[in-house]
Amino acid sequence: MRLILLGPPGAGKGTQAQRLTQSHGLVQLSTGDMLRAAVKAGTAIGMKAKAIMDQGGLVSDDIVVGIIAERIDQPDCRKGFILDGFPRTTKQAEALDKMLSERKLKLDAVIEMKVDDKVLVSRITGRFTCAKCGAGYHDSFQPTKQPGVCDRCGSTEFSRRADDNAETVVPRLTAYHGQTAPLLPYYEGKGILRQVDGMAEINEVTRQIDEVLKSI
Ligand code: AMP
Repeated sequence: MRLILLGPPGAGKGTQAQRLTQSHGLVQLSTGDMLRAAVKAGTAIGMKAKAIMDQGGLVSDDIVVGIIAERIDQPDCRKGFILDGFPRTTKQAEALDKMLSERKLKLDAVIEMKVDDKVLVSRITGRFTCAKCGAGYHDSFQPTKQPGVCDRCGSTEFSRRADDNAETVVPRLTAYHGQTAPLLPYYEGKGILRQVDGMAEINEVTRQIDEVLKSI
């Protein structure tokens, strides 16, 4: 199964993608995670991307398309994958169509996670992840069960994204509405767009996604 999770920053794409990796054995392909890894490793791509990411802008289409094209050929993607944060522009969506058709693969569904802009700031600014296993948390909405200890792996080290701050949220939302939201009619036209209520509680969103997956 090949899916896209589409929605603004803070919609819960990463949280739901992590759940799908566990429940359906799909690989999560997050261009944001890949770019952050490149920044951390100090690669040429990471150096190009860092300033743009810090300002909440979009990294060039060529860079992210190149990253994804390389990644989907890895053996672990054979069973299927969830694209989280890609595509984000029409050019990326067209490049994805081309790379899938060249490989005789198709997208099964594009799941839009609908969320009101006004909740996104508090969602984004409270996020943190386990530095060891990558489990995602939120100060108010999804804290660790035991303060300071990861529920999943017991680590006591956590990290917060450099771009998860109130200043960067605005350009990130502007980029979403201006450049990514046009993908909704694009995929609707292909008959593969589905919607879930991203405002609902986390387990309920997972349930709605499961319903979508059962219907395809
Ligand atoms: P995310 O983790 O998906 O919120 O992405 C974090 C940042 O990485 C974004 O604000 C962009 O600067 C960059 N980024 C991630 N994915 C893409 C993409 N598909 N196209 C362009 N920039 C991206």
